[in-house]
Amino acid sequence: MDDLATWMSERALRHLWVAYTDYHGRLAGRDIPLARVPGVVERGTNFAKANFNFSIRDEQVSHPRFGADSGDVLAIPDSVSAVQLPFQAESAFAFATLHLEDGSVWEGCPRAALQCAVSALAEAGLAASVAFEPEFYLFASDAGLPINQTGMYTIAGLDEQMEFVRRLSAALPEMGVELEQIGKEYGQGQYEANIAPDRPVEAAEDLFLLRLAVRSIARQLGQHASFMPKFDPAMAGSGLHVHLSLQDVSNNADRTADADDASGLSATARSFMAGWLNHAEALTALGCPTPNSYKRLQPGSWAPAHICWGIGNRATLVRVPGPGKRARLEFRAGDNTTNPFLFLAGLIWAGLDGMQRGLAPGEPVTDDAGHLETEELATRHIRFLPRDAHAAFEAFEADHALKTGLGALIHTEFLHVKRAELAAYDVQVNDWERAAYFDAP
Ligand code: GLU
Ligand code: MG
Repeated sequence: MDDLATWMSERALRHLWVAYTDYHGRLAGRDIPLARVPGVVERGTNFAKANFNFSIRDEQVSHPRFGADSGDVLAIPDSVSAVQLPFQAESAFAFATLHLEDGSVWEGCPRAALQCAVSALAEAGLAASVAFEPEFYLFASDAGLPINQTGMYTIAGLDEQMEFVRRLSAALPEMGVELEQIGKEYGQGQYEANIAPDRPVEAAEDLFLLRLAVRSIARQLGQHASFMPKFDPAMAGSGLHVHLSLQDVSNNADRTADADDASGLSATARSFMAGWLNHAEALTALGCPTPNSYKRLQPGSWAPAHICWGIGNRATLVRVPGPGKRARLEFRAGDNTTNPFLFLAGLIWAGLDGMQRGLAPGEPVTDDAGHLETEELATRHIRFLPRDAHAAFEAFEADHALKTGLGALIHTEFLHVKRAELAAYDVQVNDWERAAYFDAP
């Protein structure tokens, strides 16, 4: 739209939520009253740069690069991304890009980092379509009691939560988020909402809006939605599968499929996927950035634990869902603690590196790698995904392609805040330890 304030006035919207995202994958921002919108569109609204050096529990990390004296970034709303919020009266929402006082884009901005990766892909002659499959739990009131006991794909599970489903599927298209389907997943009270493919930046924004809508609508119904990767060791984890296909940037022709290849994939898609496999450990840091993420990535759990690919095989890290027109790549490790701007940027840079180096993905895996013995895994050169966040962060730290692609600032400060979170987590003592060790030895 040309003028955000006029668009808001015409719809009697009096609030604009201007949102940026942080390295914890959270939406952050503030409410701007209508009268102040023209000024904010022009100059932005300021936030302390120090926010990017806060841990997920809102503690400043030690030795912050951005301390109290580090000044501001300006969040300038992008009117292209503006939507009306169906679940909040009189309110609009817009994503912002973060700028410095001199007008330049701040190199720490996650949204700008993804735009940069998309430009690099275009320089290689390609565009990407991305679709996210977020899984989440609905709890009765506050977290603790799953909303129901219904099974996977059951109509009973839909029937039970149809008020939630109705509200969500009405709200999403109003925000420009095209919903493909909502289904009952196999955890108690677990659901999955699939978003239609879009260009990477838009797909990431759709996911942020979906998370916001799911939480807000659940709360309005007296429920509680959680995207936590693993709530309980006995319950299914909540993943965030990413589907990606490649097109020619000039005419949108498909560049993913090749019917003549046994895998159904083009040479371009094969080397792009090989880049994912080659950088898998570091990508796990971006897609699975919390200690809780690694409780989900267990062998034999439907979430991947090994670095391999397969055709139609849900036990692999990268699944090629099907041949022919359905050809696309599905990266199955990520979860909703990720910032999708950064995760997608990482996936694009890793894929581009695979293409530029002409990497090959090796043979597809046809069985469940989670059930293979260690020796068999070694013979077949199948590596484990990082077993914890420490290992993933080490791999990310050492990954030059991702560091160059995302930029040194994001690379360093992402690690800074996420390692601070991990250090705080590592000194906790939990119920399992108390039960096991209280009377030990
Ligand atoms: N919930 C599983 C995960 O954590 C995925 C189940 C599925 O294949 O949809 O990734
Ligand atoms: Mg699923």
